Amino acid sequence: MRHPTFLSLHTMFDIEKIRSDFPILERKVYDRPLVYLDNAATTQKPRCVVDAMSEEYFSVNANVHRGVHFLSQQATDLHEAARERVARFIGAASSSEIVFTRGTTESLNLVASSFSEAFLREGDEVLLTVMEHHSNIVPWQLVRERKGIVLKVIPINDAGEVDMEAYEKLFTPRTRLVAVTHVSNVLGTVNPVKQMAAVAHAHGARILVDGAQSVPHFPVNVQDIDCDFLTFSGHKVYGPTGIGVLYGKEELLDRMPPYQGGGEMISRVTFEHTTFERLPFKFEAGTPDYVGAHGLGVALDYVEQLGMENIHLHERELTRYAMEQLSLIPGMRLFGTAAEKDAVVAFTVGDIHPLDLGTLLDRLGIALRTGHHCAQPLMARFGVESMARASFALYTTRAEIDALVSAIDRVRKMF
Ligand code: PMP
Repeated sequence: MRHPTFLSLHTMFDIEKIRSDFPILERKVYDRPLVYLDNAATTQKPRCVVDAMSEEYFSVNANVHRGVHFLSQQATDLHEAARERVARFIGAASSSEIVFTRGTTESLNLVASSFSEAFLREGDEVLLTVMEHHSNIVPWQLVRERKGIVLKVIPINDAGEVDMEAYEKLFTPRTRLVAVTHVSNVLGTVNPVKQMAAVAHAHGARILVDGAQSVPHFPVNVQDIDCDFLTFSGHKVYGPTGIGVLYGKEELLDRMPPYQGGGEMISRVTFEHTTFERLPFKFEAGTPDYVGAHGLGVALDYVEQLGMENIHLHERELTRYAMEQLSLIPGMRLFGTAAEKDAVVAFTVGDIHPLDLGTLLDRLGIALRTGHHCAQPLMARFGVESMARASFALYTTRAEIDALVSAIDRVRKMF
């Protein structure tokens, strides 16, 4: 398939060249060119990320932080440089506000566990939107079991946008935290998190932003949003699996107890008493995924060199085009028509079960996702069990969207 060079508004976004950085995109499945539209689940990796990681394993590898020897210091330098890199990328005030985790899920569990230990009492309230991923629901339910907190759900309208009036009305003097996704992994809605943060702070509450689906797609600046926490996963931003980030304001992280105990996170241990390391190490028990952190740093360099604004413009245009083209298919029901929408389209077609649709599209070389997308409360909100979802990345082309549309049309005609 030819992928014509795409001209964005500000710059030439040379798709052919970009795609050549991602070897997997040359693959065929069932003897057809791969059309990979499952980027919200995970993104493919540019060669520079994998090369940097194998280079570290082959020529630097040693455990970080503990060793005085040359390799250990070099590995530590790479690890801490990656932390600085992440801090700059999301506009954190200091790299001590960057905690490396396994991914968004672990970051969310860390906050749920440690924030609730420090700040939540029985009857305190946490607000969540109905569009949250299960990983931003279930940890809070576990806290509810343990501490008797109250979870309140922020409603959305039929377009998939947060009802800001209803949001404001949910606050009471017991509201301590708002935990909200920046971008819905199903609807693509970009939530007005800066505005939501201002409202939360005006009510004396804190706000956590799940950036799993925003950080890969447009510039995110934690100081501009003024969020108290931000979470994201390396593997969704062209980095490796197994590494993720929790950003937290220093004054909050300082007052939160450790999440796990072990090596690296202590200052001094006796059987009677243990003191903990300074931030961010207090939250990083055990050997960290230092090679993964380095890979993530290289991935952030890669996207930054392309320009997050350029990536954003490219994907916004693709999303607009996909919505327009898909809506022409008879029986198409599109979920998520927010004015601010990014890189994800979710749909059903007539009475075709999304699983059947996904399976048949797969045989045509098109990889998309079907099911509840780890957002069952959102499925219930729209009265369905499952949806099909196509999600885009910086290497997605118009030709791939055309391929998706004509494949859906072909499958539709079989029923
Ligand atoms: N939040 C959102 C909005 C997501 O899309 C995802 C991944 N689908 C997660 C959290 C969980 O991320 P991970 O599986 O990388 O921990």
